[in-house]
Amino acid sequence: MEKKTIATDVLVVGAGISGLSAALETAETGFNVTLIEKNPFIGGRVAQLNQYFPKLCPPTCGLEINTKRLKENPRITLYTLTEVESIKGEPGNYEVTVKITPRYIRDEAPEDLCEKVASEIEFTKDDDFNYGLNKSKIMYMPYNNAFPMKYVFDKSACPADKLDELGEKFTDCLDLAQKPETKVFTAKSVIWAAGWDPYDANKLELLGYKNNPDVITNVELERLAAPNGPTEGKIQVPGMDKEIKSVAFVQCAGSRDENHLEYCSSICCLASLKQARYIREQLPEAEVHIFYIDIRSYGIFEDFYNDTKEDEKLFFHRGKVAKVFKEHGSDKLTVEAEDTIAGELNQLDVDLVVLATGMKPRTQKIAEFNPELLDRCGFVRTDIKDGIIGCGVCTRPKDVAGVVQESTGAAMKAIHIIKRSK
Ligand code: SF4
Repeated sequence: MEKKTIATDVLVVGAGISGLSAALETAETGFNVTLIEKNPFIGGRVAQLNQYFPKLCPPTCGLEINTKRLKENPRITLYTLTEVESIKGEPGNYEVTVKITPRYIRDEAPEDLCEKVASEIEFTKDDDFNYGLNKSKIMYMPYNNAFPMKYVFDKSACPADKLDELGEKFTDCLDLAQKPETKVFTAKSVIWAAGWDPYDANKLELLGYKNNPDVITNVELERLAAPNGPTEGKIQVPGMDKEIKSVAFVQCAGSRDENHLEYCSSICCLASLKQARYIREQLPEAEVHIFYIDIRSYGIFEDFYNDTKEDEKLFFHRGKVAKVFKEHGSDKLTVEAEDTIAGELNQLDVDLVVLATGMKPRTQKIAEFNPELLDRCGFVRTDIKDGIIGCGVCTRPKDVAGVVQESTGAAMKAIHIIKRSK
């Protein structure tokens, strides 16, 4: 039997700021785009930010206009909760198989009914949007500005023996008989914008993340500081009643280290400077200490660094942090670091430690398809003329403005391939 496929000009993997930009630029030039996203919403990591640097504006600044462009463009077909299973073919003639997970919500269920049902379901799960800092219901709206503005029921988080009961009780809203679907797309070009994962801080055993709730990562701090986050923007230690009078940032947490990520993640110095600024704004009495190897503030961001340094309660310590620990019975965290300027081993006690963890590209499916398309660190190579086109952090760590520029270039490369294959 002939395989049923869906033809598209360009398949874009990932609807974060990178994939979204690439899809919009391609579609607005007159080509059909299929945009797939593994989350139930678009916007990716940017949607989870509190602020961009250097302007310190909220992520809605860039996302709202792109969402509007997406809604208005009939050439883009968006699939959420969708992941790539396999890729075959070559430029001009790709075949991509994807798996779509259902939302398990009836299309006709109005939002107010979904809201009511979600509130009545007692079961909870880690809130993925907030990096597990709190719990959400297993039926949930991903976040307040999510697009699509649709609820999801997480069947995998529901106790198996309760599924039938919930399905019957809320039959006007839930459809738990929905099945995952497999679709096969043919595309002339594929743009890979699947984004990145924060480096797993549990692997940094000496930095105390695993056993201390007051050791958090930089992405978690973004959620704590965000008005739509688990503490409604109040910077506090999750689950602890502790006043924060001092904060230490541990730079290069897992980056520039051959045992973890051997590369510089490029934006975490600037991210920490930005975070230090909003901590100082919210907690004017608090001291902030940044432990660094080098501060990398490339190009015009040097101004941002210089302005931030003016703060008299912000202290820079040159040296790599060896360990973070808590003495028995103490509620203070001790940061131990070698001061590479004075040649001394120093300790500092603080209330909160933020690990500036690096970025790992999501490129595993490309590795399965053709490992030659990746460099030795797993980033999509940009020196190959014909191949899957990478953009965003999949090609190297970069800031949001850099991501948007590269995504426009990726759209142009995709259009070239389409033109050549006609
Ligand atoms: Fe380290 Fe800064 Fe590079 Fe991040 S950007 S890896 S913190 S030097």
